[in-house]
Amino acid sequence: MLGKGVAPSVLLDIDGVLHVGEQPIAGAIDALAELQRISAGVRLVTNTTSKSRGQIVEQLRRLGFEVASDEVLTPAALAVHHCRERGYRSVKLLVAEALREDLAELLSVSGGGPVDAIVLGDLGAGFTAEVLNDAFRLLMDGAELVALQHNRYWQRADGLALDVGAYSAALEYASGREAAVVGKPAREFFTAALAELGSVPESTLMVGDDVEADVGGAMQAGLRGVLVRTGKYRQEALASSGVRPTDILDSIADVPRLLRQLT
Ligand SMILES: [Mg+2]
Repeated sequence: MLGKGVAPSVLLDIDGVLHVGEQPIAGAIDALAELQRISAGVRLVTNTTSKSRGQIVEQLRRLGFEVASDEVLTPAALAVHHCRERGYRSVKLLVAEALREDLAELLSVSGGGPVDAIVLGDLGAGFTAEVLNDAFRLLMDGAELVALQHNRYWQRADGLALDVGAYSAALEYASGREAAVVGKPAREFFTAALAELGSVPESTLMVGDDVEADVGGAMQAGLRGVLVRTGKYRQEALASSGVRPTDILDSIADVPRLLRQLT
């Protein structure tokens, strides 16, 4: 499937692949540098919704990774695109304060009262019963639920934590309406990443620790799905997912070798 002599492009998840909390994964800094050198192009594709793109880049640099700002792709840009395309004028943002700068274009059209859409991100401890209930009422009044991603949980430094998908599912269940998901595993997210790389699915690897959002989503979009056994990786999650990753590696440190084999 991959042409010999032509290096594939690489999409890398960040959280759980490059680092967990403030700790880089062993070998990840060197592996990223090598992939940037030997691949046709690298994009860091994250579903993180608690930090702005600027903060993500800043954290990666602080941890020792060399990344350019335009190498990082987040769901926020796709949410803006989604709402703009549908002509939404009033949008309620349920997102972390830090993320608002990435959604500034939507902020300018948000207001009180009924809204066209709710953009749902990670409010962390801000996900109170009241906040969720207000959102539920807006949905019942006709707003569309736009979820920045649909992950069930994530690996926080102190243990697993509920992610946006869990809150989105609660709102979907109560309202009987399905959310539009713009982050991984949505096909449009991967399509946008490929467009930036000027790459095609068959010659692109997606490396992630989330078997469904990263690997399953990528494989649905025609990419090679590489699961790493770091971050939130759990054997049981793999077994129950129904996803058969193209490759399963111990960590990102093993990805450069895989890429050389495929080139
Ligand atoms: Mg991850």
